[in-house]
Amino acid sequence: MRLEFLAVSIQFQIEATNGPGRVGRLTTPHGEIETPVFMPVGTLASVKGVPQDVLEELGVQILLGNTYHLYLRPGVETVRRMGGLHGLMSWDRAILTDSGGFQVFSLNELRKVSEDGVTFRSHLDGSSHFFSPESAMAAQIGLGADIIMAFDECTEYPAERERVRASMEMTLRWAERSRKYFEGHRNEVPWGSSQLAAGSSQEMQIPRFARDDKAVEEGATQSLFGIVQGGMDRELRRESALRTVEMGFPGYAIGGLSVGEPRALTREIVESTLEYLPADKPRYLMGVGTPEEIAEYALLGVDMMDCVLPTRAARHGLLFTSQGKISIKQAQYAQDESPLDPNCGCRVCRRYSRAYLRHLYASNELLAQVLNTVHNLSYYLDTMRAVRHSIQLGERARFLAERSRPKP
Ligand SMILES: [Zn+2]
Repeated sequence: MRLEFLAVSIQFQIEATNGPGRVGRLTTPHGEIETPVFMPVGTLASVKGVPQDVLEELGVQILLGNTYHLYLRPGVETVRRMGGLHGLMSWDRAILTDSGGFQVFSLNELRKVSEDGVTFRSHLDGSSHFFSPESAMAAQIGLGADIIMAFDECTEYPAERERVRASMEMTLRWAERSRKYFEGHRNEVPWGSSQLAAGSSQEMQIPRFARDDKAVEEGATQSLFGIVQGGMDRELRRESALRTVEMGFPGYAIGGLSVGEPRALTREIVESTLEYLPADKPRYLMGVGTPEEIAEYALLGVDMMDCVLPTRAARHGLLFTSQGKISIKQAQYAQDESPLDPNCGCRVCRRYSRAYLRHLYASNELLAQVLNTVHNLSYYLDTMRAVRHSIQLGERARFLAERSRPKP
């Protein structure tokens, strides 16, 4: 008797493979995503400085929101009443929210972790809050992203093996609790068909956007992904992967990386963990990396990635280009009439000179942040397009050779 789960909330289809790399299509209630995909980070329901229509123009198919930040401000109930994040930010493409676990662990030195959950203080006003697997799920259901994440503990680095094991075991227990809560409440998503039906009969205030959303299939709802932990220990990663997969999620994430470990170790752990994740389910590597790294991970068989690097670096004037990294603040660009990246077709590179971008940055103009972010996102999305193309063409070797050529 699982009738209520018959509606398809997510579908993953692999269309081409080359070695471990694969090109696929992930269908969510809010549209299709070509994978491997880079997901820009919109921490507070905003990719800082970039309006939604520009994100659409760039070809962004899925955005990431941070549960921890949105829970604190504007608050889950406010978002839910606005039709979820889709309604609040007027974005009808897919959204993924993290569980809040990573921010609780990275932003809160005073957190208290117990089997129940985590007590933490708001970085905004110092007020005390509590996240459990159940309350983190309730928050993510209220936010209404298409893909939501199990509540996990991000193990610190470095850590003793026994500590890593204990943390991994707790993450597994939390995954089970997350799943149980989600199964019992998955019909409460703010854009679900039951919510829309309720809206029409009770004259509930449902935002225009959510009401008109015909793309949402009847009965479709969110999908909950499991997260593999296990620190930098290959054996524990294997065990975490196998036991998480046994629980049966529609997708799997590799968490707990990019926490200060050397890059070679990140790669080693990613590669060894991927072996134990089912080939027919999407695999999400959380919180990595440079354009070269995301290309490399995609070729290893990762389907989804997110990172604050392109947006954060842009706000500091660091720009990724086909000719290498550029620090636009440097005086050498003061009278440089050339586009930021002659090989980039983004609206910034088509129109403005390096001299103008340098001037905006040096003058602390808001537009500097906007234009720099648009270009960096465009570069990341183009990188993923190139990776997908190379997998489709079976040109892994050539792609890697071109990418690793020394920059001028
Ligand atoms: Zn550009």
